[in-house]
Amino acid sequence: MKEIITQHVEKHLDEYMRLVKEMYDHPEIGNEEFQTMDLLSKALDQLGFDTTTAYICPTGFQGIYRSSKTGPVIAFLCEYDALPEVGHGCGHNLIAAISIAAGAALKEVIDTYGGEIRVIGTPAEENFGGKVTMVKAHVFDDVDVAMMIHPSTEDRLGGRTVALNPLKFEFFGKNAHGCQPQNGRSALDAAVLSYTSISLLRQYAKPNTYIHGIIRNGGEAANVIPAYASMEYYFRGETMSYVKELCERAKECVAGACAATGCTYQMSVFECPYEDNVINYTLCDLLKEAYQQAGRTDVLPVDEVPSGSSDIGAVSYVCPSLHGYIKIADPCVNGHSKEMADATISAEGRQALHDGGIALALVALRLLEDPKLLDQAKEELKQTILQNK
Ligand SMILES: [Zn+2]
Ligand SMILES: [Zn+2]
Repeated sequence: MKEIITQHVEKHLDEYMRLVKEMYDHPEIGNEEFQTMDLLSKALDQLGFDTTTAYICPTGFQGIYRSSKTGPVIAFLCEYDALPEVGHGCGHNLIAAISIAAGAALKEVIDTYGGEIRVIGTPAEENFGGKVTMVKAHVFDDVDVAMMIHPSTEDRLGGRTVALNPLKFEFFGKNAHGCQPQNGRSALDAAVLSYTSISLLRQYAKPNTYIHGIIRNGGEAANVIPAYASMEYYFRGETMSYVKELCERAKECVAGACAATGCTYQMSVFECPYEDNVINYTLCDLLKEAYQQAGRTDVLPVDEVPSGSSDIGAVSYVCPSLHGYIKIADPCVNGHSKEMADATISAEGRQALHDGGIALALVALRLLEDPKLLDQAKEELKQTILQNK
């Protein structure tokens, strides 16, 4: 089986690399990936998948292959949104190709075991969180396992991310002439006092908590006491339940500032909240094994110090999920850079596509061969969710 998978990836490697290059040459940012959606879904179509475009999101897609026998639903996730200025500086073009390679290779062997393969195009990871939209639309409710591999400067089994709640605070006061301040109430003062209080709150937060914000609007003219001000904040921490707790405390800070300045406020969620990424160690162990089989022996363990936030978090709470990393560049290359984009079309990028595609398919193969492993991954997820509540 391993031979069939390897041979299939190798046979189609030039074709997959063409997809990577095409996306590199024509990068599209989140929710605008229309050409890319067409490109990738056509490729899946030619590989024998039953393909839907504009799936859930305007630039989402899905390719399905159902074996004649029943079995688990295995999802390979494609990201394919680029960044302004640096194009595919996060390497999502390679994520898409790796998942397509894995899905197509697994298709060659799945009939022996039974089951269903879904290659899902999840758009706008960088800005709008396509996976969150898809989770809300119940896309993953009947998925048994979801997997992807992200390009990096090291081979790694995964990494924690922080849960993120983006809050906007709006302040309402009363305009007055700058020389008659006694008649006004400064919304800016309420914002500044809130900013200070929230900054003090930060010291009392648990480790791995990040609170960072800006004053979006602080008035229009220096000689007018501002009646309106606003701030935008990211509250991040190890779990969403803790982040929500912090947000409640920040709300108290804002309420206090408003009481002190005679203003009122409104609080709203201004962007998409992200859950933290639940690591599934059962799947990580399988990835380690698969990386070794694909010739990658120097694989780092899960990075337990959370950093950044990603929409994979939403998926990771619904079904066991795997978000591995594969080296395409040296550690001196920054994420979100032109150099990282260039690495996706380099010889190292091609090797990562080869090895990553094979490794993901091999993880899936192990789950098909031994259904107990899938049960174990599900049980592990159940336990982690209970702990995080
Ligand atoms: Zn990124
Ligand atoms: Zn990324």
